[in-house]
Amino acid sequence: MISTANSTPSVGLVGWRGMVGSVLMDRMKTEGDFADINPVFFTTSSPGAQTPTIEGLGDTGTLQDAHDLDKLAALPIIVTAQGGDYTSAVHGQLRARGWDGLWIDAASTLRGNDDSIIVLDPVNRNVIDAGLDSGVKDFVGGNCTVSCMLMGMGGLFRNGLVEWATSMTYQAASGGGARHMREVLQQFGDLHTEVAEGLADPASAILEIDKKILAKQRSGELDTTQFGAPLSGSLIPWIDSDLGNGQSREEKKAGDETNKILGRTAENRIPIDGLCVRIATMRSHAQAMTLKLTEDISVEEIERLLDADNEWAKVVPNTKEASSVDLTPVASSGSLEVPVGRIRKLEMGPEYISAFTVGDQLLWGAAEPLRRMLKIAVGTL
Ligand code: NAP
Repeated sequence: MISTANSTPSVGLVGWRGMVGSVLMDRMKTEGDFADINPVFFTTSSPGAQTPTIEGLGDTGTLQDAHDLDKLAALPIIVTAQGGDYTSAVHGQLRARGWDGLWIDAASTLRGNDDSIIVLDPVNRNVIDAGLDSGVKDFVGGNCTVSCMLMGMGGLFRNGLVEWATSMTYQAASGGGARHMREVLQQFGDLHTEVAEGLADPASAILEIDKKILAKQRSGELDTTQFGAPLSGSLIPWIDSDLGNGQSREEKKAGDETNKILGRTAENRIPIDGLCVRIATMRSHAQAMTLKLTEDISVEEIERLLDADNEWAKVVPNTKEASSVDLTPVASSGSLEVPVGRIRKLEMGPEYISAFTVGDQLLWGAAEPLRRMLKIAVGTL
């Protein structure tokens, strides 16, 4: 393994310039994490090119080839936000040649493996620590929607108060990647152009404008390369592949990953299911939840448990004003806070409650759990 003069561990960083990787790099800079590691930057596309400049660090050399197994195997920790194809191509080969370093990954490839842990330490630090103690080496970020939901709703799940839950999601374009975000904005722009003249005239008939918008959306002229259907001014009630039983892969992740993160097994699994819907927001995922609690506790107690669970969960009062301002993708984007609100008892009975959560899926949904896992991992060396 690469040793360093000052015993600061060398950490391989793969995928650092992608969308998730860029957010990860920003957060690491903000938190001063580079002071604790010697970063070794990798690339799949341009070995030998200049590494990014990190304030306070000296020369970090040139970009290494991310498929160079010898270089990778010399490192005690590798963090990758490169994507599932890269993980599939490299991880197995590294393990096969005996590499026993810690692999921290944004891709879903290894999430379902029995010998991996899904990391979300404010919720499952106990599971992570137990895994490290027992020799687990693969640590994977969770599905963005699941991680954001658990950051907001952890107080109920971790206190064993949830009998079952359904989640109906409102997922942002960024979940698909950078090109998906561009496509949504391009569609909005094209739709606006179509009716700009009528919009500028306050006397024009809104139904005429609406007709033109609909005609444009149905014309086949909008670029739908990424989403396969117009999203701007519409929605798509299906995310990820079809499992063949009426459920989408994204919907299956809600139950599987929530239970895995919480360290629950088939014996004590909490049923969680619902529909996943793509909407034309940029980078925050929201979800409306119905929960059956294991006991009848007051709304005040529920709010207290949610707020107290971790420093980022923030209960929003169940009022029109607060919900409209503080419980929206616009409010949560770019923030580590995870607002949770619309908490009230439902007509079905005193154990049934509603809740609404929203969180920046590039922060808690992707980069932040990896950044924090890296810090934990460095602490074990
Ligand atoms: P991405 O933006 O497409 O970046 C992946 C790689 O693409 C980069 O590391 C870079 O590799 C290469 N690339 C090619 N052209 C580029 C350009 N113009 N700018 C930047 N990079 C470019 O992927 P991502 O959305 O961050 O996703 C990475 C992984 O995280 C995936 O496994 C994804 O499933 C997972 N994830 C994503 C999200 C999300 O919201 N998007 C959320 C949770 C998890 P080289 O430097 O080697 O060329």
